[in-house]
Amino acid sequence: MTIGPEDTGEIRLDAQEWTSTVVGHHRLRHDIAVIRLIGEYVPFLAGQSVEVQLPQHPGLRRRLSPALPPSLDGKLEFHVRTVPGGWCSGSIVADTRPGDQWRIGAPVGWLSVDDWATDVVMIAGGTGLAPLRSLLLDLSRRPEPPRTHLFVGGRSPRDLYASDMLFLLAGELPWLTVVPVVESAYDPDWRDEWHESCRVDVGFEVDEMLEGTLAEVVGDMGPLLNHQVLVCGSPGMVRSTMDSLIRNGTPAEAIRYEGL
Ligand SMILES: Cc1cc2nc3c(=O)[nH]c(=O)nc-3n(C[C@H](O)[C@H](O)[C@H](O)COP(=O)(O)OP(=O)(O)OC[C@H]3O[C@@H](n4cnc5c(N)ncnc54)[C@H](O)[C@@H]3O)c2cc1C
Repeated sequence: MTIGPEDTGEIRLDAQEWTSTVVGHHRLRHDIAVIRLIGEYVPFLAGQSVEVQLPQHPGLRRRLSPALPPSLDGKLEFHVRTVPGGWCSGSIVADTRPGDQWRIGAPVGWLSVDDWATDVVMIAGGTGLAPLRSLLLDLSRRPEPPRTHLFVGGRSPRDLYASDMLFLLAGELPWLTVVPVVESAYDPDWRDEWHESCRVDVGFEVDEMLEGTLAEVVGDMGPLLNHQVLVCGSPGMVRSTMDSLIRNGTPAEAIRYEGL
């Protein structure tokens, strides 16, 4: 809150909101879109989420996690998946248009990597990748980024909507290892036209992917005793992954998590 322009003592309740304009809407799957915006600088921290209000649904606010670290030039990127029956997510994925103005506010969250961390494990289910990707890009600005393993999970290979970007990022960053994880090595037998329309030759091969749920895969690892562990995904994925980590001896205080 700040005092009004003429110093009248009027309290501006909107002072903690910022406006950003959609400049790109890329539908990657029938149920997933990446939205890019440029606007006022939003003072969040990498790994946090913000509240967004869309022109299609004035008055409704939904939490989304920026997939880029904060930038002074006001760039924002969000990865959004349709929740069946949801009010906002489906229309963000299907109806967002360049020029739409979004109101952004209320940055919060505690997904972060301590300055002194030397080994990090990140575990992302679906669009839970977004805040972890923001953190990865933020870590890349450190003089000595921690050794980082990113486990990224989906139901089948085509669910890994950012496979190409992660493949390229892992090639560029020697401290980063990406481990793709799929519940089934086979895609469903119906065509996702959005997937077909953005197919590229870059990305992980199916034989480079581990098969199972993220909870099963991390459950097969030994305890993570010297790592900082970050988990982000649907509430169910976070719960089962946390259970696995704690069962295999990873200390609860080493884990930070966010359910979307
Ligand atoms: C901290 C945080 C960060 C988030 N970041 C992202 C993000 O980066 N990208 C993204 O796509 N979403 C993100 N979400 C989820 C997002 O805020 C919305 O909850 C989601 O998009 C559904 O909104 P809706 O208006 O479509 O559904 P609503 O109209 O709110 O809900 C409709 C129905 O769907 C159910 N429902 C709501 N959310 C879910 C869910 N996640 N899974 C299953 N059922 C659900 C509700 O219980 C209700 O029955 C985040 C949520 C939190 C709390």
